[in-house]
Amino acid sequence: MKSAPGTIRLIGAGLNGPLLAILLARRGFAVEIYERRPDMRRVRMSAGRSINLALSTRGIHALQQAGLWEGMRSIIIPMKGRMMHSIAEELTFQPYGKNEAEVINSISRAELNVALINAAEEHGVTIHFNRRCTGYDLKTGAIRVRDEETGEETTREAAVVVGCDGSASAIRAEMLKLSRFNFSQQYLDYGYKELTIAAGPKGEHLLETHALHIWPRGNHMLIALPNIDGTFACILFLPFEGADGFASLTAQAQVIQFFESRFPDAVRLMPQLADNYFGNPTGAMVTIKCSPWHVEGRALLLGDAVHAIVPFFGQGINCGFEDCTRLVELLERDGAEWPRVFAEFEKERKVNTDAIADMAIENFTEMRDRVADSRFLFRKKVELALEAKYPQLFVPKYAMVTFHRIPYSVALARGAVQDRMLAELCESIDRVEDLDWDKADRLIRHDLTPLELRQ
Ligand SMILES: Cc1cc2nc3c(=O)[nH]c(=O)nc-3n(C[C@H](O)[C@H](O)[C@H](O)COP(=O)(O)OP(=O)(O)OC[C@H]3O[C@@H](n4cnc5c(N)ncnc54)[C@H](O)[C@@H]3O)c2cc1C
Repeated sequence: MKSAPGTIRLIGAGLNGPLLAILLARRGFAVEIYERRPDMRRVRMSAGRSINLALSTRGIHALQQAGLWEGMRSIIIPMKGRMMHSIAEELTFQPYGKNEAEVINSISRAELNVALINAAEEHGVTIHFNRRCTGYDLKTGAIRVRDEETGEETTREAAVVVGCDGSASAIRAEMLKLSRFNFSQQYLDYGYKELTIAAGPKGEHLLETHALHIWPRGNHMLIALPNIDGTFACILFLPFEGADGFASLTAQAQVIQFFESRFPDAVRLMPQLADNYFGNPTGAMVTIKCSPWHVEGRALLLGDAVHAIVPFFGQGINCGFEDCTRLVELLERDGAEWPRVFAEFEKERKVNTDAIADMAIENFTEMRDRVADSRFLFRKKVELALEAKYPQLFVPKYAMVTFHRIPYSVALARGAVQDRMLAELCESIDRVEDLDWDKADRLIRHDLTPLELRQ
């Protein structure tokens, strides 16, 4: 197969591949994508691949840059806050942000993926489905591609290759052969499984529509995100092993009994629970860090391929999309000086992707344990009060990550300072009205510099 000289070859038509392809095509680059799976518009997706994603400011900004955001408004549902479900079936709502504009958006992964693939093709990008990259020649830059239907393998030259091939990246696997390539992968002892809450008889949502629902239960948790068809996409997080783990829940009666005792209000809305539970795979969650991210100016890793993170801050794709926008900004600034652009990209991004990886792990404990804790909820109220009074100085960490495009590393560092401040200010009070504002003023002005809030 012939393609234009200088064509950029992307591996992976997941979420980052097609978005990057669109951004590059809009700047005049010729782009081709190789995707190991069949075209998802033409085949039924395998079970367990339909998880919803929470899309926030960084992801939205990237979709705006690609001219796609307005068209996506009909397939998203804004979620204004967390709705916590206690074991006694009490509900507590905690807003995510300081006003109605600060929401996160539930979107089906499959619908987002299809929209991106369609848009990439409309921009002239060729996507080769059923083509698995099986190797990358570190010296010549050629890729090896296998036709998944015929088994035929071919070698294709490539001026520039970008590995957008997810956490099990084939390009990264080749880069492991580079001398002094740093690589770490850390799995959680927890797995996840997709489940569904059915829609009501008229296709309506049976729980509050504009919320991310959480059933926090200490060492396990259920969450649910709304879909536009009235269903909720749920994710069950359990340890792999132990009494409450996936390994112990092997019979239908056990699963039902487990749900009835832990998530009583949810199980009543899950007529397909056993089918979903046994039909869907159990997924693993991994944090991947590595360096370098590139092979001179010939190959680059991007998205989960280079920095897979656990899903508890809802930032994996928001971060990947930010990679895409930043890469094309550097290309616009420096031109197609690939070695320089790739080196600069890694230098700027790695410190930030490491930071969100660490914050995502931290947030795991917060979601499964602390969101049910009244002291935690009180601190959240104090955070919002401080933000209202000092909007340029005190912005809650969750907001810095989710509603702004402040570098993740800045959010991590300022978040740590603010956490210490909050601990001190909240120590002996139970009501926001009792906050010592003089002390708050002193601490904030002393410890925090004004923040540049980029939207
Ligand atoms: C349970 C869960 C919940 C999540 N929730 C959120 C959320 O709320 N918000 C958020 O921002 N992020 C979330 N994420 C993270 C998000 O899903 C990922 O960050 C995102 O999918 C990464 O996109 P990607 O394009 O880099 O990789 P992927 O989406 O994994 O796509 C990689 C593509 O490459 C293809 N491929 C792989 N190997 C090859 C090969 N050798 N040759 C050719 N093609 C290949 C694959 O088939 C796939 O299509 C969640 C993740 C999980 C697991």
